Amino acid sequence: MRKLLTVQDNEERTAYLGREYHDLQDRIRRARPGSENRKKLLTERDHVIGRALNAVPWNLIDVFGVEDLNGITRGKHGLGKNKEFRRKRLPWAHRSVLERLLAKAIENRVLLIAVYARGTSRECPNKVQPCGCASALNRKGEVFRCIACGYTADADRVGAHNIRSRTLAILALRRDWQREHPLGRSRGRPTLRAKDALLCTSAA
Ligand SMILES: [Zn+2]
Repeated sequence: MRKLLTVQDNEERTAYLGREYHDLQDRIRRARPGSENRKKLLTERDHVIGRALNAVPWNLIDVFGVEDLNGITRGKHGLGKNKEFRRKRLPWAHRSVLERLLAKAIENRVLLIAVYARGTSRECPNKVQPCGCASALNRKGEVFRCIACGYTADADRVGAHNIRSRTLAILALRRDWQREHPLGRSRGRPTLRAKDALLCTSAA
């Protein structure tokens, strides 16, 4: 199933938000430019984005990890990203999604961390049998199936999991940095609470 956002919290509970998004996107692509129908669909898409972002429990989280926004929005100059990749990513790059995600984070004093996006949907997250295989063959569309160990899961869930791991790694570095540079704390930067409620997301 295609969705706008896949989010995962620290207890690895996963939620898929904006399931209507991609169907709408297809209908918008087919609608005649300037038609009433297209305008209606665009408004509907705005509502879908709004509902998806509102479904994130902003008041309960301190940190929100996302795939590197610059990498995704770099568009036709994106390094190593072919045309197909860009076409697929375009809906997520939609300016209003990014703007509204940033606005939500600021409004709720949530720290937004962008992580390096490459390979997030390829790395095998198998913990029972630590694997680490990161072959491009691990992902086929919406299904992740590790060619080394056979671990199988929804590809976006795997993406969200890996973004969360990378976000945690950045947080750990940041904590070390704050410990070693106490001045950094007095500048009113958000301090991380112990519970570390964390949501990470992967855009489909
Ligand atoms: Zn594996």
